[in-house]
Order: sequence, then structure tokens, then C-alpha cells
Amino acid sequence: MNLIILKIGGSIITHKDKRGPEVNFKNLRRIVNQLVGVKKRLILIHGAGSFGHQIVKRTGINKGIKKYKDLVSFAETQRLQNDLNSIITKKLIEKGLPAFPYQASSHTITAKGRLVRMDLEAIKGLLSLNMIPVLYGVPTYDTKQGCSILSGDQIASFLAERLKATKIIMASDVDGVFTDNPKKNKKAKQIKEINRKNFEEIKKTLGQSSSTDVTGGMLGKVLELIKTAKKGIPAQIIDGVKKDNIKKALLGKKVGTIIKW
Ligand code: ADP
Repeated sequence: MNLIILKIGGSIITHKDKRGPEVNFKNLRRIVNQLVGVKKRLILIHGAGSFGHQIVKRTGINKGIKKYKDLVSFAETQRLQNDLNSIITKKLIEKGLPAFPYQASSHTITAKGRLVRMDLEAIKGLLSLNMIPVLYGVPTYDTKQGCSILSGDQIASFLAERLKATKIIMASDVDGVFTDNPKKNKKAKQIKEINRKNFEEIKKTLGQSSSTDVTGGMLGKVLELIKTAKKGIPAQIIDGVKKDNIKKALLGKKVGTIIKW
């Protein structure tokens, strides 16, 4: 059905390093403006950024439920994601886009952090109407540990596979995948394409730079996207802050890093 899955990183729609939840309205406005008039069947997924990272790190609920207090943190983490989703969808709706808030955790189950079941009938129906479902990274009911965190990245690859998307676009705050973290190493070079020939070599390089959480983020993204690329769905990791970049990627222009098998 010519479906594109666009994931917007928490790093660009929120101020990720702030102590509390804070939306980056400047970036959000720019992103929304690029989506107006795009005639593509679209699923949007957004990350949590400062609406999720801090509370999860503080409470440790990504490792499961251990005491009563964790249940309250589980609930509060979900509520915060709803807040962010509500702000994002409001901006999209104000521009006349049929952006439908879609809470995955109300019908999704994970096992040790991996998505094992999500009901897809409603989302298929919404797409058939040309609605734009807007999903987001969420804390989920996990059969092995009570609670885990389902990233927007994982939702993107799961949906791409099940709904046979034509492409996944991930908009982050860096211009694709680099030989090292470009935020820390000015000499890091952009990798134009990751494919079956160079993947093993690139994986080693990314693995070496995985000492921080954030780096895990980029390696995690690539590993998710390689899985879907192997199933014939290409992906693109782009700088979502650069002017018109999201629009360019939606139109099939080669920006950022292309991942294909
Ligand atoms: P998002 O919130 O957009 O989903 P993440 O913060 O999880 O993104 O991951 C993007 C971050 O990964 C970048 O800001 C960058 O600092 C970091 N990073 C680490 N290693 C690399 C690399 N090899 N190439 C690109 N970015 C990297």
C-alpha cells in the first residue's frame, strides 16, 4: 500500500538533556510544516526524549517491576508519553492533518523488552481511511518482567514488517550514521550506505563507541533497521533538524545514511 514509516527522534522534538520534560517547539513546528501537503500513506512514530529518558533512568522500570512504587512509576511514565503525544498531535491537527493519537501499550505485549504482540486491525483500518496514526515509545506490560520500555525504533521496524511498508525514515539530530559519535568526535565520517557488504565492519565500529546510553541509541537503531532491510524494507537515518530534510527523504532523495540489504 506504499506506506512510509517516519520516526521522529526524541532528540529533536524534545530538549533531550533537560532535567524535566520539555518540548522543542521550534523543531516540532518545522517538522509539522514539512508534513503538510505530503501525499503519502504515513505512520508517524515519535520518541520520548526528556519525557521518558529521565524518569526511566531514575526509577529503573525498564528492568522490570520489583516493588509497589515501580507500578506508580510505570503509570506515570505512560502518562508523560501521552502528554507529549497530545502536544505533537495537536500541532499536526491544527495544520489540518488527520493525526490520530495511538497508544501502543494499550494493546501491545513485550517479553524481556521485545515486542511479541500488537493488534494491527485498527491501525490497518485507520490507514485505509488515510488517517495518520501517531504512535510513540511507551512502557509496556511485559510477560517476563512486568514492565519494559518499547522504543519508537522497535515499533517502527515491527510495523514496517507487518504492514509491508516501502520504507522507514528515522529523523534524528545527526546526519545519519557516522564512523564514530559525531557529537564527540569531529573527525567522524558520515556513512552514506550500510549494506550486506559493509555491515559487519560498521557494526564493529559502532560497538566500540557504545560506552554511553546515547551511543547505544544509534547502534540499536541500526540493528533494528538491518532486520527490516533483510526483509526487503530499506531505511534512511537523517538529520531531522536540517531544513527540508524530512520532506526530501519522503520524496525519495538521498540524504543521511541509507540502509539496505
Ligand atoms: P533519537 O532520540 O533521535 O532517536 P538517539 O539519541 O537515540 O536518537 O541516537 C542519536 C544519537 O546517537 C546522536 O545524537 C549521536 O550523539 C549518537 N551517536 C553515537 N554514535 C553514533 C554514530 N556512530 N553515528 C551517529 N550518531 C551516533
